[in-house]
Amino acid sequence: MIRLKGIGPRLSQQLEREGVETILDLLLRIPVRWQDRTKVVPIAGLIPDGRPALVRGRIGGLSVRRRGRGGRGVVQAKLTGDGGTIGAVWFNQTWISRRLTGRPEVLLYGPVRLNPRTGTPEIVNPEVEIVGHGAGEGIVPVYRPVGPLGGRRLRKLVASALGALDRVEDPLPEDLLEARRLPPAAEALRRLHRPEIPEGERQRTGLIEALNRGTTPEHRRLAFEELLGLAGSVYRIKVIRHVQRAPSFPAPDDLEQLLDLPFELTGAQRRVLREIFDDLARPFPMARLLEGDVGAGKTAVAALAAAHVLRGGGQVAVMAPTELLAEQHMATLTQLFSGSRWRPRLLTGSVPVSQRREIIRGLSDGTVALAVGTHALIQKAVSFDRLGLAIIDEQHRFGVAQRRALVEKGKAPHLLVMTATPIPRSLAMTVYGDLDLSILDELPPGRRPVRTVMRSLELASSVFEYLGREVASGARAYVVYPLIEASDTIEAEALEDNLDRLRRFLPGIEVGMVHGRMNREEREHVFGGFRRGEIQVLAATTVIEVGVDVPEATMMVIVSPERFGLSQLHQLRGRVGRGRRQSWCVLLAGDRLSAKTRQRLEIFQRTADGFKLAEADLALRGPGERAGLRQWGADGLVFADIFRDRALLEEAKRTVAELDARGVLKTVLDRLILRPEPGGHRPGGTDEQ
Ligand code: ADP
Ligand code: MG
Repeated sequence: MIRLKGIGPRLSQQLEREGVETILDLLLRIPVRWQDRTKVVPIAGLIPDGRPALVRGRIGGLSVRRRGRGGRGVVQAKLTGDGGTIGAVWFNQTWISRRLTGRPEVLLYGPVRLNPRTGTPEIVNPEVEIVGHGAGEGIVPVYRPVGPLGGRRLRKLVASALGALDRVEDPLPEDLLEARRLPPAAEALRRLHRPEIPEGERQRTGLIEALNRGTTPEHRRLAFEELLGLAGSVYRIKVIRHVQRAPSFPAPDDLEQLLDLPFELTGAQRRVLREIFDDLARPFPMARLLEGDVGAGKTAVAALAAAHVLRGGGQVAVMAPTELLAEQHMATLTQLFSGSRWRPRLLTGSVPVSQRREIIRGLSDGTVALAVGTHALIQKAVSFDRLGLAIIDEQHRFGVAQRRALVEKGKAPHLLVMTATPIPRSLAMTVYGDLDLSILDELPPGRRPVRTVMRSLELASSVFEYLGREVASGARAYVVYPLIEASDTIEAEALEDNLDRLRRFLPGIEVGMVHGRMNREEREHVFGGFRRGEIQVLAATTVIEVGVDVPEATMMVIVSPERFGLSQLHQLRGRVGRGRRQSWCVLLAGDRLSAKTRQRLEIFQRTADGFKLAEADLALRGPGERAGLRQWGADGLVFADIFRDRALLEEAKRTVAELDARGVLKTVLDRLILRPEPGGHRPGGTDEQ
């Protein structure tokens, strides 16, 4: 819970959902823009060119025209000050009139243009500051909203939180920072939130430009810390791997006897398991990346590797990026291990505290041998008695720091990370260090390719009619929306607004809903119902994007697919086509698509191969576009860009070596302020927007 004046329990909860749990989390959301409000422009000297300006004067001629509810309508006023009068107009924020009434003098900041009807200059939707209150002048930061918090209120809260930076100790030794001409982290954050205004017009515009380009020493400092975390974690995994001895588990000759699988392994699964078992037999920690397209059967490989290590007396941890996926793995493994003496236990944030304590105790005294969970597995309280194998599923959703954290839960455990997203070679060494690669290049037999089509959102009714007929004949379907609830800032369809409509389209069919803000019982109830077929249509957000496996599901409808990247679409489509029935993926797109988006969706319809799609994704984005990094395990990088900041990354690597030589590397890494966590300081926080 975040303790700050002006943040009550309800708001605190809302912020938590956005990944803001502490004051420092809030302060790590640095501004996205900085406005120059250092100079009041005389009204007579205003140029109506659409650029924002700061003006000062008295408000007169206030008029309000309301239209409908919720602040809709127009507010108009005249501002009289230095050398003249200018019009001011506010759209759909009628409450602003209250702020304006009875104020002797105000500052307005907003774009100045010529009114298209009257041809006279006016200032549009300006922010209002009361003169004498001191705020809103200078270099003013602009923040991306955090949950319900935005605008002036967020700015005020952040400003009042800055004092907390006094208590932030820098993780990096002072001499080391000085040698690199980097400011301490706390100072960097303070100056980004409240820039000091330099003397002189040129210096001032220079600073504002640098801030907005992200090239200040302060930005560099934050990027450096992130890259240090990345390089340091890769280094530690490498060191553990080459220096430490691991428990060895001699290869079994009875692969099939390890577990009672409901199918025959594919040739590729056998080959990959041999590679894994060879590694496990050696007294050095395995570090292996298992790449296989969605639906290739990575879970079975993981389960067999786990069974082998358990039989050899080691503990096994399986970490997944979402609670839903962890819960599903829990169900699958419980089934697969039902004939053995091992019972998997689930460790996620949603597990009741008393149970969580019991499992954590069991892991440290060794009575719990097999744990399945989310990043709850790498929280401080968790330790293992004899961790033999750490498995990370959908590894691209984690950062390397989390990989390190899981590995360091044991003495020198074997590590198996799995992903459906191939990594470009240019990135592999940076974010993976030296993992060995196993490729699962064969799908289980009997699969039929998914047919992908695109329809206009306006034709939704005919698509849902078809879906209704499919379901009536025994199929199950997903309908995925990009948002939980409608948003003012993002144009896309939302789950909650559409649920009733969807139910009306599908009379007599059970439609369930899952999203990331539900608690575990609700989610398990609905998802379990879908798995068993009591619910036939699952309306969901992207919580079902990774790993979800219900072979009876054969229809995937993606609403507003333009909101998703290629790899994400591929993951979603991978939820169907897992059984023998013909599967469909229907994209219900809006009408106003850009040429680039249209191209992306066309490539998606044509291409079934995840590796090819990943290449296309990279080509479409261009290597500099950072959004793409998320899918390759460089997640959590907010300030740094491993393409753009290559030189800084090299510097970070040298620093890692130096810290290691001083014997303080692990301490520094554990104390880093910018620790990437799923839903951590990344703007946007959770899976969903
Ligand atoms: P992914 O690689 O995407 O994690 P899963 O492990 O979820 O794939 O497997 C996809 C589906 O294929 C599951 O329903 C699983 O039971 C099934 N499966 C896995 N291996 C085989 C196999 N050798 N033969 C038949 N079905 C298999
Ligand atoms: Mg999987």
